[in-house]
This record gives sequence, C-alpha cells and structure tokens, in this order.
Amino acid sequence: MFDAMTKRYGQGGSGSSGLHLSGHPLSQRTIKNPISCTGVGLHSGVKVTMTLKPAPADSGIVFKRIDIAGGGAVIPARWDCVDDTRLCTGVSAQGAQVRTIEHLMAALAGSRIDNLVIEITGPEVPVMDGSAHPFVFLIDCAGVVEQAAPRKAIRVLRSIKLQDGDREVSLEPDDGFSVDLSIDFASSAIRRQEMRIELSSSAFRSEVSRARTFGLEQEVAALRAAGLAKGGSLDNAVVIGADNKILNEEGLRYDDEFVRHKVLDAVGDLYLAGYPILGRFQGCCSGHAMNNLLLRALFSDPTAYRIETLCETLVVPPARSEVAPARFAAAIA
Ligand SMILES: [Zn+2]
Repeated sequence: MFDAMTKRYGQGGSGSSGLHLSGHPLSQRTIKNPISCTGVGLHSGVKVTMTLKPAPADSGIVFKRIDIAGGGAVIPARWDCVDDTRLCTGVSAQGAQVRTIEHLMAALAGSRIDNLVIEITGPEVPVMDGSAHPFVFLIDCAGVVEQAAPRKAIRVLRSIKLQDGDREVSLEPDDGFSVDLSIDFASSAIRRQEMRIELSSSAFRSEVSRARTFGLEQEVAALRAAGLAKGGSLDNAVVIGADNKILNEEGLRYDDEFVRHKVLDAVGDLYLAGYPILGRFQGCCSGHAMNNLLLRALFSDPTAYRIETLCETLVVPPARSEVAPARFAAAIA
C-alpha cells in the first residue's frame, strides 16, 4: 500500500494527483539520549568532543561552547547568526563561534530533528569522514522521540532569486522540499555535474548523506597558509591530484559524489532557516555564502514566506483505486 506514498515533506490541496485530506499535526522531534563523538575540525585541525543532548519543544537547534568559562556561550544554529562562509558555514553569538556546522545541520534536517543542544569543546564541529553519515548514525544510536508540540515549516510564497556572475541561487514555491543543483569545475575529475532530488529522510540517507567534502591537492598549501583545511586529510575529504586523479585509495562513494556533497551542504545551510522549508531550491555553482544570502533575502520580505504547521495527510490517488490511501506528511496553514 505504500507504493502511493509521496516522499515529501508535504503536498497541499493544489497537487496534481489525488484527494488530499488534512490530518493531525506532525510532532516536533528531539533525540532520546545524549550521545558524544570526538574528532578534529576540518579547518582548525583542533580536536573537539561534541555531545548531542535532547532539548525542549520549540527551542530549536542550539550550540553551546562548553569550553568557554561562565557556563559557556550559547549560539543558535540560525541564518541570522551566520558570520563565516569561507569554505564552511559558521555561526557566532556571545562572542563565540562554531564553524563547519553544515554537515551536522544536514544530518539533523535529514533525520527530522527539530530541537537539540549541541555541546562542543572547541570552535569547529568535528569533520568525521567529511560527510553527514556519521552524524546520521549518531542520531540513530541516540534514538528519536516525538514531542508534544506541532512541527512547523516555512512555506515559500514567491520566487526569490540571487545572481552573482555565473552563480545563481533561488527558492520557488512548492509543496515539498527539493534541491536542484549544478556545479562546473575545470578539473576533468569533476566537470559539470547536476542533481535534482526531492528530499525525504530516506532519500537524504541513501542518495546524499554519504557524499564527502572535496578539494584539489594543488590548493591545499594555499588553504593552509590562509588558516584553512588544517585538519583535512584523505580520511575526511576526497582529494583530486594534480593529474586529475582521485587520491583516495577507496575511490568515490557515488559516481557524482561532488554534486551530491553540494546538495548535502545546501540542505544543511537551508536548515538554518530554523524550520524545514516547503519550496524548491535551485543552485548553480553556488556555495555557503549564497545559500545564506538567499535565506537573508527570504526573511527580509515578510510577503515571501509563511510559517505553517506540518500535518499528516491522507492521499487517495485517483487513477489507482486498488491502492489504499497512504499516509504521509503534508502541510496546511
Ligand atoms: Zn560540505
């Protein structure tokens, strides 16, 4: 019966297939038990311990720098706290920063975690294997609990587009959340890659979560001179050599791992909206800076979005009467 299940955050009454009946609101979620991991920061090279802890409903995702005296600095994982988009996304508040948060944020988006406290002993989230998969695994191990508060989402009401030369990002109204992204690198190991994907937690896990960050060997010295990529290695990044060969012995995890990682980054950056987005994101050669500018443009126009409660909905496909109604998430105002 679940053939008819549409793997989207939501689908409103204007959808092209089936009768959509709104149901009860979806619940917010947090993790069941605290869980920790240790690793190095990709750019700082600093070893940190990070502990994910359950958090109350409507508190959102919050970092706590527990290495800072006086109870630790509290830094919301929110678009308006972003102050660093140099090859990562960093957030700051109370004079403290946490950077390279995007892969963890992508895992939280993909695992549908609304509320979480992330205690961290240093200035950067551990890079782990360079993908979001270790964080997804961590959340699975911690367990997930539903909370007594409805899940909310941000519905994009009109098109928002930003352009910078050949680079472009946009958000268009849609009843689900999808990412349509293209990259174009001079290296023959990458070249032009495109991916269009409708995101659900299962699609994120299987198609996106394992894609690693990447870099060119010839740029490593310059990055390190600029104080970046100090913790980078073949254990946590795909590295392309001067001859355009992949230096990692194990090769790629997906044929088009590079564009999939850019999708992963976009999912993480957009989750800084504070809620899941009901809209279609499109990016062309975009990155962390443009992703954040796009959210700033969205939130600067109150007519461009609306906050809604996400509801479970019954869907009856019209042309397949043998298929029983499938339950899935949908949005209503
Ligand atoms: Zn990344």
